[in-house]
Amino acid sequence: MAHPKITVVGAGNVGATCALWAAARNLGDVVLVDVVPGLAEGKALDLAQAAPIAGFSHKITGSADYAATAGSDLAIVTAGLARKPGMSRDDLLARNAEIVAGAVRQLVKASPQVILIIVSNPVDAMTALAHKVSGLPPRRIVGMAGVLDSARMRSFVAMEAGVSPKDVQAYVLGGHGDSMVPLVRHSSIGGVPLTERLPKATLERIVERTRNGGAEIVALLKTGSAFYAPAAAAVEMAQAILRDEGRVLPCAAYCDAEYGVGGYFVGVPVRLGAGGVLGVLEFDLDAEERAAFDRSVQHVKGLVKKLDALNV
Ligand code: NAD
Repeated sequence: MAHPKITVVGAGNVGATCALWAAARNLGDVVLVDVVPGLAEGKALDLAQAAPIAGFSHKITGSADYAATAGSDLAIVTAGLARKPGMSRDDLLARNAEIVAGAVRQLVKASPQVILIIVSNPVDAMTALAHKVSGLPPRRIVGMAGVLDSARMRSFVAMEAGVSPKDVQAYVLGGHGDSMVPLVRHSSIGGVPLTERLPKATLERIVERTRNGGAEIVALLKTGSAFYAPAAAAVEMAQAILRDEGRVLPCAAYCDAEYGVGGYFVGVPVRLGAGGVLGVLEFDLDAEERAAFDRSVQHVKGLVKKLDALNV
């Protein structure tokens, strides 16, 4: 049987790290694409030379030409500008919209059956844009944010509680920004609700640190944004799809009647498997959670409106 073919657009920090994680998990043949001549080829060659040591079984190639991506089963789109200190994800909207729209048009032309995982920021709006320009059914387009934000929350809980992050479950819903909604009530350590395990003040500290998780790293790095955990999150989603795992993961997915969103891509728990999004899971939200989720959805809607005005 042919191996799955995975394209990663953007061979920068997130893209190259996605290629590394995908190769390390032997998910399939990986093609890296970047607009900078030589960058994707160079990083792919470097990764391919790690194969004998690290045990990668599949091909890793790079190109500046989308012809190399033809027949991709799945593409992870990381092309675009990253935040610098003082910038919000929303500040990237206009520039990244052009880049993402161009990349998606070329990807779909070369691979009409592709499933898209969008990473470029602001991710909820970029996922809506990918839907608009690709003409693909919404279940084949999904944005990466919730897996990362939830992993950040899980890691902070683990640090505070002195337990393994593997034994912490956490869900962050809503848009990927300051209005994201860490769901403390639906999060747990070893199956026991967080609210029974940690004092209120600690939980508030964890929620705040989760919301600022990206900015904390931008402030430390100064020249760009996080990439190890974002890439691990995107590849976790790719694996769930390519191996038809039916994983329940929070992703930016199309919601119409679901959560009463009314036709936007926002962070909700979905089942990911062969073909993309297999369904949206509706959590019961109490009044406070519902209000926070609605505020976050309003923010995403505002961004999509700005995007529509750009007419890319
Ligand atoms: P980076 O600057 O290291 O890499 C971006 C790459 O995109 C560069 O190599 C650049 O040459 C390439 N590129 C630009 N225009 C292109 C085009 N038209 N076609 C192909 N490639 C093109 O940035 P990064 O740290 O890898 O971040 C990439 C994007 O991912 C940013 O928008 C960042 O904000 C976003 N991001 C999102 C999340 C999330 O949770 N959704 C997390 C981290 C980063």
